[in-house]
Amino acid sequence: MPVGLNYTYYPFAASQRDFPYLFLEKPSILVSTSSDLREKLLSLLEKMLKEGVFPHDLLKDSDESILVYYAIIDVLKTINDNRIINRVAYAYSKTAAEQLKNEKSDILILLAKKLGLNAEYVLKDAPEIPIVRIDMKKKSRKYIVEIARYQYTIPILQYLELASKRLIHDPLYSPINHPVWSGRIYLDKEVFIRVLEEHIYNTIIRQVMEAEPSSSSEYLELVEEVKSRIGEYMTKPSTRAVEYKEKLESMYVGEGRLVLVEELLPPCMKKMLESLKTGGNPSHAERFNFAAFLGQIGLDVDEILEYFKNTPDFNEKIARYQIEHILGLRGSKKKYMPHNCENLKSSGICPITEQCKGGKNPLAVYKYNLRVSLGRKHRKQTGKPSINEETSETSELNSEERAAGGI
Ligand code: SF4
Repeated sequence: MPVGLNYTYYPFAASQRDFPYLFLEKPSILVSTSSDLREKLLSLLEKMLKEGVFPHDLLKDSDESILVYYAIIDVLKTINDNRIINRVAYAYSKTAAEQLKNEKSDILILLAKKLGLNAEYVLKDAPEIPIVRIDMKKKSRKYIVEIARYQYTIPILQYLELASKRLIHDPLYSPINHPVWSGRIYLDKEVFIRVLEEHIYNTIIRQVMEAEPSSSSEYLELVEEVKSRIGEYMTKPSTRAVEYKEKLESMYVGEGRLVLVEELLPPCMKKMLESLKTGGNPSHAERFNFAAFLGQIGLDVDEILEYFKNTPDFNEKIARYQIEHILGLRGSKKKYMPHNCENLKSSGICPITEQCKGGKNPLAVYKYNLRVSLGRKHRKQTGKPSINEETSETSELNSEERAAGGI
């Protein structure tokens, strides 16, 4: 057995070549025929979906962890529910990242290499950069200069591939804030672990996609048992779908509140909505902008919370607190606008190269789309342009929208 990695925490890194004796039979068949392992798989899945952590203490040793992991991968492929898949990938990757904080550099590098990253640890001549940080413990906000050592390195292309989806919106992970030399980027331990966590998450999703589950009756019985145990976490058909026609009856549904017509959302918000509906894992910047957008339309905290319930790292208490903050119900009491298009383009959140018609902020674009649609509807019914349509290019944007680049 290879030494070094404790596979109890990192079963996704175990290959058939390293553990041939565990793969003499398909792990999912083995697990489905053992009442002990079967029960462990069910308890693990329930806990991961409920708490978003991988409870490795339920497993006796690394062999058990690997067997149950590969059985879970097969089950997830058969169930094929994105919300469940992402939540399980989140639980494994988050727990692994916590464990990695206590590991030495050779274990971090070994795990990264096992997962296909060309990672190295630099002992001598690692780049060092002075950084300024504020000591929050001191009342007088003391500035401290520290020397940061960037001892972990991976090829810049691998880094960009990993960071570009969710991390790049945060300056902490921006390549511009790290030494890059000879095709490699240099990172400190904290950022390296976060990047590794992202890679673990992606690896688990890929392993699910590539799985080839059995069709044996024992295995299919196990799948049914899993479904009945975790049914409450599975994606339910949306109860929010409202008829497009009904929605367009009026642009406003109540005091200062816009209708939400999914078909008319600008591409950036539509992309986030689709991702959230399918259990995707948008970045913090994407979540902030979507919540701010919904808040500006007039949705309340509970309604916005509904949209985030499918995210793999959902924690109602934290999410509610953050939404209340964005809606101006806490802290500075400032109700936030979504960022303007220029900002969303430079942070990679805008999925198109051109500019949407109607304004320079997603909210302004959405209002424009509503007005144009209402105009079309009115014209179809009466043969005349509506007031909304006539004024659609120049109509009312509030001062906050203008400040945010609304017009
Ligand atoms: S141009 Fe603006 S409104 Fe349109 S998709 Fe991009 S960020 Fe969204």
